[in-house]
Formats: sequence, C-alpha cells, structure tokens
Amino acid sequence: MERQVSIWEQETFFAHQNIIIIGSGLVGLWCAWVLKTKHPLAKITIVEKGIIPTGASTRNAGFACFGSPTEMIHDASVMGEAKMWATVGMRYRGIEKIRDHFGDNIIDYDNCGGYECLTNEQAEHVADHIDWLNAGMKQITGLDKAFGWCNEKLQEFGFDGFDTLIENKMEGGLHSGKLVQALMQKVQGAGVTILTGLEVTSIKDEEVSIQIQTANGMNFFATKVLYCTNAFSSALITNLPITPARGQILVTSPIENLKMRGTFHYDEGYYYFRNLGNRVLIGGARNKAFDEEQTTELSTSNTVQQELEFFLSNHILPGVDYSITNRWSGIMGLSENKEPVIKQVSKNSLAVIACNGMGVALSPMIAEQVAEYF
Ligand SMILES: Cc1cc2nc3c(=O)[nH]c(=O)nc-3n(C[C@H](O)[C@H](O)[C@H](O)COP(=O)(O)OP(=O)(O)OC[C@H]3O[C@@H](n4cnc5c(N)ncnc54)[C@H](O)[C@@H]3O)c2cc1C
Repeated sequence: MERQVSIWEQETFFAHQNIIIIGSGLVGLWCAWVLKTKHPLAKITIVEKGIIPTGASTRNAGFACFGSPTEMIHDASVMGEAKMWATVGMRYRGIEKIRDHFGDNIIDYDNCGGYECLTNEQAEHVADHIDWLNAGMKQITGLDKAFGWCNEKLQEFGFDGFDTLIENKMEGGLHSGKLVQALMQKVQGAGVTILTGLEVTSIKDEEVSIQIQTANGMNFFATKVLYCTNAFSSALITNLPITPARGQILVTSPIENLKMRGTFHYDEGYYYFRNLGNRVLIGGARNKAFDEEQTTELSTSNTVQQELEFFLSNHILPGVDYSITNRWSGIMGLSENKEPVIKQVSKNSLAVIACNGMGVALSPMIAEQVAEYF
C-alpha cells in the first residue's frame, strides 16, 4: 500500500530541494558542508542507502597520510609530476582542514608519524629520489626534510624482514568512525537533512527538476543532484571511469607492551598497518587477488585474510601472542589515472567519485572544488 504523506512531511522532509546529494560518505558529507556554508538558505538533503554510511568512509584504516615515498615516485610516473604534487598538496591541506574543524580530541587524531618499510632494493630507489622528494615536500609543508631515514626504529618496533625504514613525522592516524559521526553532526547542525536506509534506484532528469526514485517507492525532487556514490556509482550512471576495489582489514586483541607506534606502509601502499592503542590494525594485500577484490561485495575472503595474518605474524608481531578480534572490508573507487573524478552527468547533476584510497584527506578539498560548480 502506498505510504500516505502528511502535509507536514510534504512541506519538510519531502519538499523540493535545491540540492540532493546521493551518498553520505566523506565526500557527500564534506560537499554538503561546503555547499551549505556557501549557500546558507539552500535546502540540501543527503540520501543514503545504508543505516549509516556503508562504503569506504567508516570502514577504512584511518590513516591521515599524504604520500609515502614509493607511492609518490610511482604516481609521478603514472600521472606526471605536477599532478602528483598537486594531489599531495590537497591531501596535506585536507588533513589540516579536518584538524582545524574538529580539534584532535574529537576525532582521536594521533600525531604518531608515518613510516614506509622498505627492502634494500626499494631503499636504493628511494635514496635516488630523496632530495627531489624533500624539495617538493618543502614547497607544501615548509619543512626542510619531511622524509628522514630511521632504520634504528625497525628493532625498536619489533619488526622482522624489512631492511630499512623512512619516516614522515607530519603524518598521523585518526578514528574514522568519530570523524564521520562528527561531520554528520556538523552538517545536520547546519540544517542539512540526512535520510538513511533509502537506496536511490534511478534518476529522471526532467525539464525543471530532477526526480530521484528510491527502492521503497518514495520519490524526491531537486534542482541539482550530486552523485557521491563512489564505487557503487555504476549502478546509477553508465560509462563512468571507475572500478570498485575491496580493501580488507583485521585488528588484533590488545597486546601487552606493544612496541610499534605509528602508521606504516609497505609495497607501494598495498600493505598498511598501524597501532590502535595497544592493538594492531592491518589492511591491504589486494595485490594477492586483484580480480577477486574488484567487487562491491562487503565481505572478507580467505586469500586476503590469510595473507594479512601471515604478514602480521612474520613481519610485524614475530613471536608475540595475540588473537584476531575484528575483520571487515570496505570498497574503494579507483579511477584510471588515480585522479578523483568530478564529472558532469547531465546539465544539473554532477558525479564526485573515486578518491582512489585517499579520501580521508582528499574529501574536504574535493568538496571545495565542487562548490565552484554551484
Ligand atoms: C579498507 C580501506 C582502507 C582505507 N584506508 C584509508 C586511509 O587510511 N586513509 C585515507 O585517506 N583513505 C582510506 N581509504 C579510502 C577512503 O576511505 C575513501 O577514499 C573515502 O571514504 C571515499 O569516500 P566517499 O564518500 O567517496 O565513498 P563512500 O564512503 O563509499 O560513500 C559512498 C556512499 O554512497 C552510498 N550509496 C551508494 N549507492 C547509493 C544509492 N544508490 N543510493 C543511496 N546511497 C548510495 C553508500 O552506501 C556509501 O555510504 C580506505 C578505503 C578502504 C576501503
């Protein structure tokens, strides 16, 4: 039976909106915040298919990082030097913006430093580029030597099987759940409506307004629509240059006298691990099963989980007792050249997708670019 709508509902929750944003991940939320700040009188609603955001934003590793050496060298070869530095700059400023907005306590920001673990061969490659890396970083951060070797810490952290370690003291970690929750509260406090449990199934771009159809039969109307649906976008829009990439994570039980502290990358970022207090979080290993992990299925797989456990026990916590308490996955959206995609879908709708696994830091800055369209 069709749901009857009260006049109160009709004039508020279901009223014609200036902007409807589909997806309440970090990109959707930051876009809502920036647009509401720029246009305080605009009626803005976010429509989210999950009960809470259900993609990458609350399921990631919570690294507040802006570039590890092998990743930056690789990215410069793929997207060109200028674009690589522009992305690193956006990530750096994005993290600054997050910390300015919320303060470190609210989001559990931990100024623990970022590290990359390297083999000798990788270290030689990085050593060849270290002056160039530090010169570029200085332009962004003002710091003379953003990257410094710190091999002595390999032993201090209790690691095994890595040859060298390089450090960036300006990176850190945060609590992804607290960040998204705080951002949601901020956005709602500013007057944006968030409706959850509502999956958008199709969009009808009509002459004067856009009709948004949802799985439970309710239709919404707006002047403009933003698709912030990331890896799930292909269900709504055809011909988008985006591929889903599942990222899997596991977390250990608390470990007495845990030696390691910081956020760590290995193998161009395919492996990442950090301490959460006295527990260890590790994620990645997607490169062990590329095809299997090209999915929007929010589950874990034996191949990747076993590889993460192997890596953890052999390299990060050799000889240490612990159990695994949490396992989960999230879905990233990847573009062809690692650049985020802001693409006009129709005259009045825009897709803002594909943070390429860097969205914690990038999303506040991407939202500022989106505001230029409004
Ligand atoms: C395992 C993992 C680890 C990561 N680690 C880090 C990290 O340490 N640091 C970092 O910077 N980045 C990290 N990332 C990447 C970062 O989390 C993402 O780049 C960022 O969260 C993307 O935000 P988003 O809003 O674009 O996408 P999402 O968070 O995926 O949001 C998209 C939203 O759209 C909703 N949606 C989709 N389709 C519909 C529909 N039809 N109707 C209504 N709603 C819909 C979804 O439910 C979802 O909530 C990681 C990602 C993963 C998966």
